[in-house]
Amino acid sequence: MKFDSVCVHGARDKNNQTGSLAVPIYQSATYAHPAVGQSTGYDYARVQNPTREALEGLMAALEGGTEALAFSCGMAALDAIMGLFGPGDHIICTDDLYGGSVRLFSSLADRVGLSFGYIDTNSKPALEKALTPKTKAVFIETPSNPMMRVTDIAAVRETVGPGIKVIVDNTFLTPYFQRPLEFGADMVIHSGTKYLGGHNDTLAGFVVTNDPDDAERLRFITKTVGSGLTPFDSFLIIRGLKTLALRMERSQKNALAIASFLSGHPKVAKVLYPGLKGHPAQALAQATGHGAMISFEVDSPETATAVLEKVSLILYAESLGGVETLITYPLLQTHADVPELTREALGITDRLLRLSVGVEDEADLIADLGQALA
Ligand code: PLP
Repeated sequence: MKFDSVCVHGARDKNNQTGSLAVPIYQSATYAHPAVGQSTGYDYARVQNPTREALEGLMAALEGGTEALAFSCGMAALDAIMGLFGPGDHIICTDDLYGGSVRLFSSLADRVGLSFGYIDTNSKPALEKALTPKTKAVFIETPSNPMMRVTDIAAVRETVGPGIKVIVDNTFLTPYFQRPLEFGADMVIHSGTKYLGGHNDTLAGFVVTNDPDDAERLRFITKTVGSGLTPFDSFLIIRGLKTLALRMERSQKNALAIASFLSGHPKVAKVLYPGLKGHPAQALAQATGHGAMISFEVDSPETATAVLEKVSLILYAESLGGVETLITYPLLQTHADVPELTREALGITDRLLRLSVGVEDEADLIADLGQALA
């Protein structure tokens, strides 16, 4: 089956005796045992749930992994991965990460004794310099958030060699456009809250891997702390994934049109969109598309504030990846917890705005941005 068909048909309820097209929401906290010492394979919902399992099977298939785990949100997925590392371990990260990931890493550095280095993961010399005997993983966001820089996953894999885990946050492109495991990543992580769910109505997170040992250790963590996705949310994400291919295509088409419009606007100083000619992503074959996230710099902080307050169809809200087009102020929202010096070095200024382009009519979106910029 091709990717688009897997999206529609790939979630299977193993217990289906009715012909139900939708995977049922198995809303049960526990399961009866047929006899002493026997189990149906389901004992307690923190550990196993059929709706969540159907979703996990679907996500593994979409990312080309053998195992997937569904979490209550993206941060829970990332926290579980961090549970694979211990005091003294060193992790190299893309310097331009989602602010919540930076916040989690700072707290783990303080509480657990993990250490994190932030570099341009697409620079081989920077990566070689950052490697230490204690380095256990490289954590990549590509394209990065919010500066849309790309990292060549296969090149990172080659530089670090075996024994160091390459972990990729694939939230922005989804497996529809980019499948990191095929380029040598060991683990893919998602905020399923974004494109995978696609409707801004629930939170979810995923880890997908080909390594049975890592999957088992992660399952132990979710079993222990209860960070697995609920049956109802699993149902919603399965439903959202059915239209992933359609939504990604339409959002990308809208994004390209908006990026071109912004590029020609006198109040816009810079547009960062991997789909625009000349962006370094164009030279990299690892993604089959460029997604629908655009960052752009306007001419003054006053213009930035005016745009945020004047958009009407577009909503000023944190998050991304849903059918609704959202605009975000990274400085005060997604990246508020990133240290000021880092923000300045990366270019996350009071003039930078980030758009998550949805599936509305392209002309309506451009008209809304036009009046907000006027
Ligand atoms: N990764 C990226 C790239 C994100 O943008 C986010 C949230 O915005 C997360 C991870 C965290 O996911 P969640 O909000 O589902 O916990």
